Amino acid sequence: LTQLFRPLDMLGMVYRTIRQGLIDMAEMFRLLDTEVEVPDRPNAPALIIRKPSVIFDNVVFGYEQDRTILHGLSFEVPAGKNYAVVGPSGAGKSTLARLLFRFYDPQAGRILIDGQDIRHVTQASLRAAIGIVPQDSVLFNDTIGYNIGYGRGDATQAEIEAAAQGAALMGLICRLPKRFDTEVGERGLKLSGGEKQRVAIARTLVKNPPILLLDEATSALDTRTEQEILATLNRVAEHRTSISIAHRLSTIADADRILVLNEGTLAESGSHADLLRQGGLYAEMWARQAAEAEALHEAAE
Ligand code: ADP
Ligand code: MG
Repeated sequence: LTQLFRPLDMLGMVYRTIRQGLIDMAEMFRLLDTEVEVPDRPNAPALIIRKPSVIFDNVVFGYEQDRTILHGLSFEVPAGKNYAVVGPSGAGKSTLARLLFRFYDPQAGRILIDGQDIRHVTQASLRAAIGIVPQDSVLFNDTIGYNIGYGRGDATQAEIEAAAQGAALMGLICRLPKRFDTEVGERGLKLSGGEKQRVAIARTLVKNPPILLLDEATSALDTRTEQEILATLNRVAEHRTSISIAHRLSTIADADRILVLNEGTLAESGSHADLLRQGGLYAEMWARQAAEAEALHEAAE
């Protein structure tokens, strides 16, 4: 009988892996607006992570033949560091995220995670290693507990609660009539943008990935909610490698390093203070956003 069950077990595992892949893909497709599949190599091994560094090595990429978007992009995010990517709209920031998740392969150059070319490992293992918090998260018409745990079918109630705690959701959940069993989404309780982002963060905590990829994860929120979510995200990112793509520069000023992307190349990089001192593109963007914030502030008074 065990002989019969073993393949079923395997199927369960495969199913969970596929489902996780599909969930991530659905989220990525929504987030990134793409629909391309890159096949695994035959007998590709799983990605093995000891020190989750991320390297872009001279990456050249374009969606169409005669329009290159990334022109030989190189950078390294050391394991455990929190890096930010900023730059004008259309600079190639989301493209970089898509390549790291391997929705496309570069036309030249390589992307390495912990020294392994991401083209050489299975996509399931690659995608299991990366947690994504998109700009605005989707919730299923199901319970809040399901929405938190669905990143990993075998999550226990204790793990779901710990994740809710980590994402600062317990205050909300304790006030709900059926707590974790409360239905949310279109047909249930309506959550605010900030609460949905917290559910997405809790989901990522359950998944517990070594690498975090945030693509404008807080740009859809008002400033106060953004501050709260950022505090949570910073805590979550602390012991992981993270790449935060940000529009509002004030949200990433304390990153270990800021990469400034412009027209598909690395225009500048350094700490916030370094970049201000350099007086280049970053300093210019910073001054413009500060002036905008000032104007908004005055208009509000
Ligand atoms: P950012 O996130 O920095 O605003 P993107 O990486 O989304 O920029 O886009 C970089 C460039 O690639 C833009 O010029 C955009 O129009 C183009 N682009 C993005 N997605 C696609 C796509 N699926 N097909 C063709 N061109 C695209
Ligand atoms: Mg983008």
